[in-house]
Amino acid sequence: MSQVVSQASTRPPRRNRRPHTYIGSTTSVCPVCRSLVPAKVLCQDGRVYFDKFCPAHGGSKALVEEDVGYYLEAVRYAQPGSVPLTVSMPARGGCPHDCGLCPRHEQHCCHPIIEITNRCNLDCPICMADHAGKFDMPEPAFRRCVEHLLGAEGSLENLTLSGGEPTLHPQLLDFIALATRPEIARVSLVTNGLRIAQDAAFCDALARSGAYVILQFDGLDAAADCALRGRDLVAIRQQALAQLEAHSIPCQLLFVAARHVNEHQLGQALDLLLQKPFILSLAVQPLADAREGIAVDPLDRLTVSGTIRALARQSRGVLRADDFFPLPCPDPRCVSLTYLLGTAQGEWVPIPRFADIRRHLTMLAESATIAPSQELEDSLHEIVSDLWSTAGECPRNERVVSAVRRLFEGLADRAKDGAAQRRVLETSAKSIFIHHYMDRHTFDLARVPKCCHQYSLPDGRLMPICTYNLFHRSREGS
Ligand code: SF4
Ligand code: SF4
Repeated sequence: MSQVVSQASTRPPRRNRRPHTYIGSTTSVCPVCRSLVPAKVLCQDGRVYFDKFCPAHGGSKALVEEDVGYYLEAVRYAQPGSVPLTVSMPARGGCPHDCGLCPRHEQHCCHPIIEITNRCNLDCPICMADHAGKFDMPEPAFRRCVEHLLGAEGSLENLTLSGGEPTLHPQLLDFIALATRPEIARVSLVTNGLRIAQDAAFCDALARSGAYVILQFDGLDAAADCALRGRDLVAIRQQALAQLEAHSIPCQLLFVAARHVNEHQLGQALDLLLQKPFILSLAVQPLADAREGIAVDPLDRLTVSGTIRALARQSRGVLRADDFFPLPCPDPRCVSLTYLLGTAQGEWVPIPRFADIRRHLTMLAESATIAPSQELEDSLHEIVSDLWSTAGECPRNERVVSAVRRLFEGLADRAKDGAAQRRVLETSAKSIFIHHYMDRHTFDLARVPKCCHQYSLPDGRLMPICTYNLFHRSREGS
């Protein structure tokens, strides 16, 4: 007996192996109190998780990306940013307290958003904004936002007016007219589509204003609408689409995608994008946890790579997962995108199938949209040359070559002004963006200094959207 005890006591204790691989660390927030807390970045079962610890509320775990390969590859797309011409806050308390921007920010603003009202005619459970109806931005404040933006940026590819529901603002059309100036290439409006569906006179005026519409379109499923938007909007969406088409108003579909709710509708949005000439792009936002409303399951949610897979699965062969690439303008883990080129035969061919996107990253590095530019012309020239040299290797090569040539010639036509060149681009190449805003589960402090999607506030501050929603919005009372 004593011999057995002695043998057991000399055996070294066994160490347990972790069920995951540690791949890094960052700073996130506690999902309960939103204090900044350390987070380990872990890979488990091919997925990426944050494992956080808050001294007050203990540990928590959150799914960050469904495909570790995509997550690790995305980091390799990082490119240097270019800073704004001016900043409005000193660096004092450190990230994210100094947002304004502060001099430590790494990227200028290529997607500015002005929230012109907090009134709304819906009460969506997923809304980030406080739509208590207390606020319509006065015209002098709007003018200040535009002037501050132009001071920081010099010129803008796009300015988005949002809310609340911006079509409820009594001066919306005046604001669009005010922002329509040579330094701003495009003014867009994010809307739930209710007024567009029901007010033909408003659509006439909107068409004359030249504004683009970003239409909330989360599929055509009544149950999903009730979960995400609080009511069945299927008929409204169909009416809004019909009005936009009838008025030839250029449009982006904005699809908030939620696991087990409406991810099965992504293919329908893609079909619309490819079939309808007035729909120029599709933006998918995997659902982020809002201040109130739907609680996202932090361990079972849609991420960027999950959205790519769902789109590829539902595209009936048009898209593959490797057609998407991380956008290097913000942190590349924030946004993924692809472009599809239209051929004269009515096909849509993803551009990464015939062009090495990595070689043409400069045209994408500083903006989330392809804009007419010398870099783009140079890239298209190179792509045409490459396609000629590989002629015959791809069954659709000839059609693709003539589509790229048409695009190149349209852009190189010096008789065309910037707006006409932009039209050539928009009608020849459609885009799909996947942008996953961070929330109390997935917030990663390492990403925000590179953020290029920013709110413009009347006092001149520019706020990265994720830091504003998580840290500043409640203090600003909006
Ligand atoms: S996110 Fe940018 S602006 Fe905000 S504190 Fe950090 S570096 Fe400064
Ligand atoms: S808004 Fe958030 S998710 Fe989007 S680019 Fe900025 S930091 Fe990244």
